[in-house]
Amino acid sequence: MALVYFLTTAVAAFLITSAVARRYRVPILLYHSVSPVAKKGRKISINSAAFERQMRFLKENYNVLPLETLCALRNENQTFPKNSIAITFDNNFGNFYNHALPIIEHYKLPVTLYVIVGELNKLKPETIKAMKKSGLIDFASHTISHPYLSRLSSKELNMELSGSKVLLEKQVDSSINSLAYSYGDFNDQVKQKTKEAGYETAVAVYPQHIFAYDDLLSLRRIPITQYSDNMRVFKMQLLGYLDFVQYFGSLLKRTLIRIM
Ligand SMILES: [Zn+2]
Repeated sequence: MALVYFLTTAVAAFLITSAVARRYRVPILLYHSVSPVAKKGRKISINSAAFERQMRFLKENYNVLPLETLCALRNENQTFPKNSIAITFDNNFGNFYNHALPIIEHYKLPVTLYVIVGELNKLKPETIKAMKKSGLIDFASHTISHPYLSRLSSKELNMELSGSKVLLEKQVDSSINSLAYSYGDFNDQVKQKTKEAGYETAVAVYPQHIFAYDDLLSLRRIPITQYSDNMRVFKMQLLGYLDFVQYFGSLLKRTLIRIM
């Protein structure tokens, strides 16, 4: 059993990391928080030095494109440019402006920033203006109050989806076309409502998809955490290898539970 598992993983890893696969599968990175000293015990908070190393690596080895551009290519059935990748940030952690933006500007990398609209008051208008001026930030919605969307009534859902879109559009004075499901939580109804609210794309964390181009309303993202401080881990994440280990790991676990 273990041998089958490792062989399948190895073959799958080879297929997914091959040059051909990379034309069709684009990693979308998910960041949360960057600060000079990463908060201990908070996996999603990474330190500035690691972030700088990762951005330099992407600049030198990848073709970083706005998520919107990648989705437009996908809609036109075009293949992605070689080594395409997209960067996204969730939540309004004030440290995005202070610690992540200077590095992003230094390497001139486009980023989609998913904002919790109910917390917009924590962002100063000058901050929003400065981010817009950089020309690198695409604003997008991360709902109003960061709820588990699948647990909401239809009315509440409308508020979180349409409401956040309208409010954010007013605030940043540009159209909002993308949504990040809070906690990556969604179901068919949430997806349908997201579409009806006028979003063209929606991103999650671990939907049941392996390939980024499958469905524009449930795009898979790779969470970058403190483990990614290690550049070897980071590179493996970009190649999709760790996704497969994880995918087959959970498959194996499910199979074992069924057998035992
Ligand atoms: Zn979130």
